[in-house]
Amino acid sequence: MAEIIVAERAGACYGVGRALNLTLEQADKAAGPVHTLGPLIHNPLVVEDLDARGVRVADCPADAGDGLLIIRAHGTTPEVIADAEARGLTVLDATCPYVKKVHVAAKKLVDAGYDVLVVGEAGHPEVEGILGHAGCARVVGSVADVRALISAGALGKKVGVVVQTTQTLALLQGVVDELLAAAQEVRVVNTICAATQERQQAAAELAAQVDAMVVIGGKNSGNTRRLFEICSEHCGRTHHIESADELDAAWFAGTGKIGITAGASTPQAHIDAVVKRLHALA
Ligand code: SF4
Repeated sequence: MAEIIVAERAGACYGVGRALNLTLEQADKAAGPVHTLGPLIHNPLVVEDLDARGVRVADCPADAGDGLLIIRAHGTTPEVIADAEARGLTVLDATCPYVKKVHVAAKKLVDAGYDVLVVGEAGHPEVEGILGHAGCARVVGSVADVRALISAGALGKKVGVVVQTTQTLALLQGVVDELLAAAQEVRVVNTICAATQERQQAAAELAAQVDAMVVIGGKNSGNTRRLFEICSEHCGRTHHIESADELDAAWFAGTGKIGITAGASTPQAHIDAVVKRLHALA
């Protein structure tokens, strides 16, 4: 029988787990309709499960109609919340507290007169929320973006920087290096969340020690696909699944050790189900 090892920090991060728990609580007790603003997490099985419990997805407050509207861990803009409230919806704000810290930091920098840059992915809901709370800020997704602003003379003497929580330290450092050469004052608030990096590191370490690796999470989840790539670099027998039903005994023939990790949008119950089925198969 193969040894089965679950990576440290596999599965839902604090912010996603918190938003999911708050939503499940409301699914059980709310009297009227319950909607999440956009899919709560990038995991079709979880979204289907929520739908079965009466929690629907609304693309905007107008889609929700009435009842309760839950803001997911990414957060949103103050305008969207005001729109929802003006429509008579009750808003439950499940924005991750670490994302809220970025909102506060960006607003403080704007109020203190800094020309604020958000290092992140333009159009991503978390970044849109940060821009909305800052009131006046710009997004840079690469060092080239900063160079373009500098060469266009579009930056003031005092530049403030915050970061989308899932960005890399390398990108932040690249952006700051460019700014230091151009601005008189650069104030950086490092708002990167450690959860993503820690999960990737633990997965890589485990993948290097096992004969086969299973990565659990939505096929539409960017952070799960990245985990699959990282594990594949260290273990040739790496498989990406959404649920325990997809496991195939042939994948594990002759293995002594099997590793498991899971993306940030994978609930603990899915990990437990995979462990249980693997014990039966391998
Ligand atoms: S990755 Fe970090 S900031 Fe993002 S939801 Fe999870 S805990 Fe919050």
